[in-house]
Amino acid sequence: MMVASNQYAFKGTLLVDEPMAKHTSWKIGGKVDKFYTPSDIDDLAKFISDLPADEKIIFIGLGSNLLVRDKGVRGTVISLKGSLSDIEPLDDNCLRVGAGASCAKLARHCHRNNLIGGEFFAGIPGLLGGALAMNAGAFGGETWPVVKSVITINKKGEIFNRTACDYVINYRSVKGCENEWFISADLQFENGDGDAAALRVKQLLAKRAASQPTGLPSCGSVFKNPENDYAARLIEACGLKGRSIGGAVVSEKHANFIINTGNAKACDVEDLILLVQKKVEKEHAVKLQAEVKIIGEADNE
Ligand SMILES: Cc1cc2nc3c(=O)[nH]c(=O)nc-3n(C[C@H](O)[C@H](O)[C@H](O)COP(=O)(O)OP(=O)(O)OC[C@H]3O[C@@H](n4cnc5c(N)ncnc54)[C@H](O)[C@@H]3O)c2cc1C
Repeated sequence: MMVASNQYAFKGTLLVDEPMAKHTSWKIGGKVDKFYTPSDIDDLAKFISDLPADEKIIFIGLGSNLLVRDKGVRGTVISLKGSLSDIEPLDDNCLRVGAGASCAKLARHCHRNNLIGGEFFAGIPGLLGGALAMNAGAFGGETWPVVKSVITINKKGEIFNRTACDYVINYRSVKGCENEWFISADLQFENGDGDAAALRVKQLLAKRAASQPTGLPSCGSVFKNPENDYAARLIEACGLKGRSIGGAVVSEKHANFIINTGNAKACDVEDLILLVQKKVEKEHAVKLQAEVKIIGEADNE
């Protein structure tokens, strides 16, 4: 249901009882109480500071790393899709990029402007905010090494300038400043040959499309790679390719992907995640850690 935004004196768009399945790449997820897309930073600050103090707030990008449980999310989801997406050149090969800019747009901007070091963003089907939260990476590159500083917002609508020193950053993990969310980042690149970079990226994407089920509903890699090994190798060695629960199946093309074949529920995916973890631990004594973020109410809550 759509609520006229001016009824609330906010400039963004507020949806209530919004199915999260419409906002995740798995196309799975129950309803969220409130789903807000801000029009700009001031509007975002006003909206979140007006929410009740105990309201649960979750920021999302393109939901490309999110499993939303079937009973949905109590509280407010702030979506940056279509919002805060400006890319502004600063001095010295540096860009100020809104957290709502897509990683693909950022990669394109870099190579069109002969900036090098951001090619890996082309492999991440999310927004910059999600990439910052995940330290997303591809093709040997990662988000945080190109970050000079970030701007964040808290629940009171206060704005902060942060640097990498304020966080503990690891492979697909960023911890620190827990009650703040990313609204933009200053990213540092090098001067170089944009056309050559674009060609390299095209080749890497083609290689990836040959080995991953990129066109099907998934969240990419479900598990982090354990040190010195690959989650996909371990899962495949357990004979789990093609293993399904309900509408969720371990991809035949790449064992670290779980596909929604059309009617999967979040509980199917979550059960399959647990099954894979148990089997890999039993057969290889490795405890796989989920890369995907799981949110929302479970059936027993
Ligand atoms: C086909 C496919 C391939 C993929 N390949 C890769 C890959 O090569 N490398 C890789 O790293 N990932 C990959 N992913 C996973 C995913 O694209 C990345 O994790 C991406 O960074 C998530 O971005 P998003 O905008 O979709 O974030 P979401 O999935 O919407 O959110 C992810 C997490 O970030 C948090 N978050 C989102 N925005 C903000 C914000 N503004 N401030 C604070 N927290 C925020 C959310 O609360 C959530 O915890 C792939 C996914 C798919 C579907």
